[in-house]
Amino acid sequence: MSFEPVDWSEGARPSAATSPAATALHPAPVPLRDPFGRAITYLRVSVTDRCDFRCVYCMAEQMTFLPRRELLSLQELDRVCTAFVRLGVRKLRITGGEPLVRRDILPLFRGLSRHLVSGALDELTLTTNGSRLAEHAASLAACGVRRVNVSLDTLDPDRFRAITRIGELSRVLAGIDAAAAAGLRVKINVVALKGINEDAIPNLVLWCAARGFDMTLIEVMPMGDIGGENRLQQYLPLHEVRRRLAERWTLTPLTYRTGGPARWVQVVEPGVRLGFITPLTHNFCENCNRVRLTCTGRLYLCLGQNDAADLRAPLRASPDDGALTAAIREAIDRKPKGHDFIIDRDHTGPAVARHMSVTGG
Ligand code: SAM
Ligand code: SF4
Repeated sequence: MSFEPVDWSEGARPSAATSPAATALHPAPVPLRDPFGRAITYLRVSVTDRCDFRCVYCMAEQMTFLPRRELLSLQELDRVCTAFVRLGVRKLRITGGEPLVRRDILPLFRGLSRHLVSGALDELTLTTNGSRLAEHAASLAACGVRRVNVSLDTLDPDRFRAITRIGELSRVLAGIDAAAAAGLRVKINVVALKGINEDAIPNLVLWCAARGFDMTLIEVMPMGDIGGENRLQQYLPLHEVRRRLAERWTLTPLTYRTGGPARWVQVVEPGVRLGFITPLTHNFCENCNRVRLTCTGRLYLCLGQNDAADLRAPLRASPDDGALTAAIREAIDRKPKGHDFIIDRDHTGPAVARHMSVTGG
């Protein structure tokens, strides 16, 4: 398969006619397989550890971010993503931190879109807090992005400010509107937080139903130091939320899968598809198909484990991708079976030291 380097200039988005990868006749690559036989077809890429919010479950109020020189350049991010595509990855998700705060982010999407054009990639997508989506939605759609996940934990502006410590709800709602207007399918991610947004969940279900958005609920995971906040106090098991929703509406289990860890139901009366991501109450590792790249080039093999491989050194050692490809294969060969997240009275601290923003969830 041919994967040409990308032209980064404005307006140089590869087309089916100009992309060499598009015209090459090639068998689909054999997917990477981990020691447990799971095919690795999904790469999540955190392009920055920075964020314009400080959500109480994700970050401490005072954060020290990486110096910019530590970050992979755009060209380097493209090279690593392309190496993964060559190895059979079919889906790329750009995340962070907040991916849209990285100034040069659109050219990355523009460049990676050549793999959509060639058919080597099924999906290029992103997870965002929505604060800058209004500016970028149309350009993202033009780069072949079809779906976007937006995090939104409440529809109440004051509570939104309390959860994000900085965020302005109206900007996020404007971003979501712009995404929908640009033709992007929107999924709303909601972290369930005890005593903070649990009573807001039915309202969010109705709001998503009215707009035709899917919604996923996520259990808070013990990742990174969050200052004075206590995860045990935040943690709301989703079986509890599900039980309460089922008192009000009919929840019909669906076989629908997005290739991710969510288990889906149809909430019949409002008419919305609702996913539950339950790393704490139901370990979701058996079908894991993904690995995560940080903005400094570390490849994490599991969200809940510390083992990582450095891809930056082989990337920078040579313009040829041989060493990089070997390092990726070596890393996948040691992907662990699963995570060991626990939150209870004896485990209130982080299971892993890094924040979710390092690997982007
Ligand atoms: N800033 C973007 C956003 O908020 O969507 C992308 C990065 S954020 C780390 C990705 C997702 O992880 C968000 O849906 C966020 O709510 C979730 N998240 C962050 N910290 C979490 C934690 N400790 N437990 C569970 N989910 C978390
Ligand atoms: Fe930023 Fe997303 Fe973490 Fe909130 S969840 S602090 S928006 S990275």
